[in-house]
Amino acid sequence: NDATEISSKDIDQLARTSFPLCMRHMLEKLRENHHLKHGGRMQFGLFLKGAGLKLEDALTFWRSEFSQKVGSERFDKEYAYTIRHNYGKEGKRTDYTSYSCQKIISATPGVGDHHGCPYRHFGEENLRAALNNMGVGGNALEGILDKVKNRHYQLACTMTFEATHGVSCDTGINHPNQYFSESQKVLQA
Ligand code: SF4
Repeated sequence: NDATEISSKDIDQLARTSFPLCMRHMLEKLRENHHLKHGGRMQFGLFLKGAGLKLEDALTFWRSEFSQKVGSERFDKEYAYTIRHNYGKEGKRTDYTSYSCQKIISATPGVGDHHGCPYRHFGEENLRAALNNMGVGGNALEGILDKVKNRHYQLACTMTFEATHGVSCDTGINHPNQYFSESQKVLQA
């Protein structure tokens, strides 16, 4: 997935076809609230970077939402730094990599946080609704909820991938960027 490049104007379309539920959820909340708390900015920001969103485009994307809430001046002062930081342009200049499923699943999102893994952190009703939204219903949905009850969150995500792409995913999902690149492979085949 490192070789591909995505543009901020394609994010909504790509989210519909190829983002895992955790990232679809954060995009939805960002569009709704024009804001994401720190945990969400990290999880989603690094995912987008991993999917091939370049720094300048990332700044455009985050500024377009945050400026509606806090104004562009405050965005530039308080938030642009962390985005540049994620790209290794500030501070210790570490080039941060995106979070694995394991890391996301073990997060402890608080009130008002939207990061984390929906299979782990949503209640059953919300998860049902979110999966319905992705076009997953019937036996597939019940099978996924069954995996969730047994705490097999990545397996539940893998089954969602299979149900929405109509292919089997034998390797299983272990990283949101892997989900994205596998999806793009299927759709571009
Ligand atoms: Fe995201 Fe991984 Fe959870 Fe799927 S299993 S929703 S990719 S954290």
